[in-house]
Amino acid sequence: MMRQPGRHFLQIPGPSSVPDRILNAISRQVIDHRGPDFAELGTRVLEGLKTVFKTESNVFVFPASGTGAWEAALVNVLSPGDKVLMYETGHFATLWKSMAQRLGLNAQFIHGNWRGGADPDKIEEALREDTTSEIKAVCVVHNETSTGSVSDILSVRKAIDNAGHSALLMVDSISGLASIDYQHDEWGVDVTVSGSQKGFMLPPGLSFNAVSKKSLMANKVAKLQRSYWDWGDMIGPNKSGYFPYTPATNLLYGLVESIDMLHEEGLENVFSRHSRHGVTTRQAVRAWGLEVLCSEQGAESGVLTAVMLPKGHSADAFREKALTEFGISLGNGLSKVSDKVFRIGHLGDFNDLMLMATLSGVELGLESAHVPYNRGGVQVALEQLKTSET
Ligand SMILES: *Cc1c(COP(=O)(O)O)cnc(C)c1O
Repeated sequence: MMRQPGRHFLQIPGPSSVPDRILNAISRQVIDHRGPDFAELGTRVLEGLKTVFKTESNVFVFPASGTGAWEAALVNVLSPGDKVLMYETGHFATLWKSMAQRLGLNAQFIHGNWRGGADPDKIEEALREDTTSEIKAVCVVHNETSTGSVSDILSVRKAIDNAGHSALLMVDSISGLASIDYQHDEWGVDVTVSGSQKGFMLPPGLSFNAVSKKSLMANKVAKLQRSYWDWGDMIGPNKSGYFPYTPATNLLYGLVESIDMLHEEGLENVFSRHSRHGVTTRQAVRAWGLEVLCSEQGAESGVLTAVMLPKGHSADAFREKALTEFGISLGNGLSKVSDKVFRIGHLGDFNDLMLMATLSGVELGLESAHVPYNRGGVQVALEQLKTSET
């Protein structure tokens, strides 16, 4: 392949590009994970994570991608044959449901159209119908990365409470945490699943379970088979900053740096930056005459925007042009929307100029791939940035 000069734009919705500060932190020498120096690193990580999940309870760290922490969440609190209520917000919700089935759980799936968040009313209705309390957990994806739609987790909590149901609330915020407001304790979430390679700006390889007192109790009686993922093995060593097996030491160096960076900017500022970039991107998309996949007003994500191609045009052919001619990687459409949509990631270590370059890459790609569009989306975005507060 011919060399492409200049920097590459990794605008997929995770992994997000890793800032130099984090790359430098990760490049340090490995230390003894059972030695005295490690305790300080481990403690900083475990305490720091609480400030991002907004919890006083434990956050467990696994050397795994987000999928590992999905499995950890399920096997630690549930027993074979347990019923779980899951909501089809998109591809990731569907994958989590398939995992639940493969683990021997009885998944009740509320179907959705992939164009919005989870509807709390439908969750409440399903829970009210469950008069014998067979449902042990409600599982929802916070930021559905395949569609760019956000579910209102506090409203899901209220739906469970309104139904007077005892089910645990389990949330996948793998791509929402540290980019969109998230409050584990305040929203009464029992298990939050997250990962390193999205809002945390780290390479892939770490994932998390934030827990509640109620889920720690459930852990004591849950009978699904587990070994590597068992929270029970983590609790003791974590108290002094250690782990039961070899942790991903260098990613933990990066994680300390990431948490510091999030607080130096201020979490509220991080959230409003993402939201502003989401608004700007959607304005550009509409100016191009294209449709945003998320059609539920107020549920649009600040992390990514999924864009529908006009009928008869290939999203993958367009993405290939954008990559080979302009050096920008855009996210592909997953499963049901494969080749029909592309996704613009605007998350992580990202600013106005990077967004403008990204949107320029999209407009150049549309032109080059002969996708019918109206010119000027980039100009509309620029005007939006000029007039909206940073
Ligand atoms: C990225 C992502 C996952 C999968 O995480 P992996 O790290 O690829 O295992 C799951 N759910 C959501 C919402 C995601 O964005």
